[in-house]
Amino acid sequence: MTSHIMPTYQRLPVTFARGQGAWLWDDNNNRYLDALSGIAVCNLGHAHPAVHKAICAQSEKLLHTSNIYGIAVQEQLADKLIEKSGMDNVFFSNSGAEANEAAIKLARKYGHERGIDSPAIIVMEKSFHGRTMATLSATGNAKVQQGFAPLVTGFVRVPYNDIPAIEQAISDNNNIVAILVEPIQGEGGVNIPADDYLNQIRALCDEHELLMMLDEIQTGIGRTGEFLCFQHNGIIPDVCTLAKALGNGVPIGACLARGKAATILTAGNHGSTFGGNLLACSAALAVLATLDAENLIEQAELKGQQIAKALSRILQKNTHIVDIRHKGLMIGIELDKPCAELVTLALHKRLLINVTNEKTIRLLPPLVIDAEQIQQLIDTLAALIQEYTRSAVN
Ligand SMILES: *Cc1c(COP(=O)(O)O)cnc(C)c1O
Repeated sequence: MTSHIMPTYQRLPVTFARGQGAWLWDDNNNRYLDALSGIAVCNLGHAHPAVHKAICAQSEKLLHTSNIYGIAVQEQLADKLIEKSGMDNVFFSNSGAEANEAAIKLARKYGHERGIDSPAIIVMEKSFHGRTMATLSATGNAKVQQGFAPLVTGFVRVPYNDIPAIEQAISDNNNIVAILVEPIQGEGGVNIPADDYLNQIRALCDEHELLMMLDEIQTGIGRTGEFLCFQHNGIIPDVCTLAKALGNGVPIGACLARGKAATILTAGNHGSTFGGNLLACSAALAVLATLDAENLIEQAELKGQQIAKALSRILQKNTHIVDIRHKGLMIGIELDKPCAELVTLALHKRLLINVTNEKTIRLLPPLVIDAEQIQQLIDTLAALIQEYTRSAVN
């Protein structure tokens, strides 16, 4: 049968019908272990009762009004995000790209208010910020940009995890107003920068009065063992974007701002019909409450440690493993050759994984993954990698 979906995704030959925690069942009732969480979206696992209850209860009362009226659950969610992040206020969107669009507009207006007519934002090689025109222009991946010129201007690109390159870009260009960076690059290959990278960026932004803007769309909401990844560093950015796991599958994004960044966007500057609507905000409130109630952020730290350690031990003699790196439950296993086929091989073993930047296996299991599932993940994946590197890579 021909599909009438525009073919923007290369889809794996499986269709899921239901889920529970880290399990998914396909339409033939085969059970799979989900070590990807819909790409860092379902951090609480599938069909979490707290999210289910919240959206059912909200849908009985009211789904949508408009941002031209007060919205109590939106206020509550903003309060909670501010309390947990140390930021000052929030703009709600429906996706990650839209959260980043808000950040980019905010940075440009910040520049204009400082008399800079053509503001520029420093962005990184191998970054990913979304698929809208501005965010794909900010993204450091030629494949994402291919065919869509003319790109949005006003981005200056430097290598990731390279502080001298940022210093050089700042001294070369008087129009720099902000630095936009992922605390860990997800799509770019689970690239974890030096421990003090964010601290150094914070210091440079302070020195040159630039906005430090962190894209925490993949790293946020407990994934790395802190609520937000920057909290490992004891710093606070000026702008921080969230989406993915914020609604555990209900679409919602957020652009958080602090201090001077919190007063830039004013009435008429930005908006969204659906952004921060009652359904999405009630889901996100349930997500934040559950992270605390089930102690899931600490578990991300412990479980990530356990998985990475076990894989390192089992694969220590495998010379095709370049690196195993992780922060919490954001895990990358880099091989010495392209290994995209592993996704299909894992699917045959009823395990859902991902390969990014061609050579890096990416694991983003739900934070609720249990001990038995962790063992199954380790055993299945390690065996698969051993088998694959013995045959295909050589
Ligand atoms: C997924 C992602 C985005 C884009 O989010 P969408 O909701 O798909 O628009 C942006 N930045 C990062 C770091 C992401 O992982």
